[in-house]
Amino acid sequence: MQSLIVTLDGPAGSGKSTVARFLAKRLGLEFLDTGAMYRGLTAKALYRGIDPATEPHAVIELARNTVMRFDWYDDPPRLFLGNLDVTDRIRDRDVTSRVSEVAALSGVRHVLVDIQRRIGEEHPRLVTEGRDQGSVVFPSAQVKFYLDASPTVRAKRRAKQIQDAGRKADLQLIRKQIIERDHKDSTRVESPLICPEDAQRIDTSDMTLDQVVEHLETLVRDKMNMPTDG
Ligand code: C5P
Repeated sequence: MQSLIVTLDGPAGSGKSTVARFLAKRLGLEFLDTGAMYRGLTAKALYRGIDPATEPHAVIELARNTVMRFDWYDDPPRLFLGNLDVTDRIRDRDVTSRVSEVAALSGVRHVLVDIQRRIGEEHPRLVTEGRDQGSVVFPSAQVKFYLDASPTVRAKRRAKQIQDAGRKADLQLIRKQIIERDHKDSTRVESPLICPEDAQRIDTSDMTLDQVVEHLETLVRDKMNMPTDG
């Protein structure tokens, strides 16, 4: 079957993960959440008591020695480090607040980008989302998107996710953290968050999830000449 890689890049809270997951389903493609991989490594470093700020080499060593894989039979695929399922753990607040430091380490990125490219070879019909999927990992992807939204809208979406999970959310704090994470992700030396030149930029501030998914589905189908039924 012909390969079809669709990349979705964008900042924290732009809705990439959810959009990518639904888009993949509507197009009959698989779904790769690369942020989960950086989060997984961060969770493992914290568990081992390694501080990414002061012990970057230990984090890179950990990345090289970690067997990271997704279980593709689950939807969305669950993430395993060795035999340990870390899918839920990686969403915890301590992981979220340290993940950008881990993701800024070039040694870590080399290891995880290699794994992502291998996944792309083994799963060549893929919607993949992250910060560098169109710009670095899959430069020749057939369709590239860059999703964006204002920091306030993104903070509101994150707050709602947290509240829906039964926890309290501080909107102002979340907004501040989102802006900080954007800054770290877009100013880092290694693979900073950018909108690739050949990506279509979509501002989702005034769009519902359904509208975004439908819009992207139409754009992919038009570009790839895919009929609506497949
Ligand atoms: O998308 P998510 O919030 O799960 O990503 C967590 C963090 O992982 C991001 O803030 C970013 O620092 C990093 N990341 C990255 N490159 C990717 C995916 C995520 O640097 N492809």
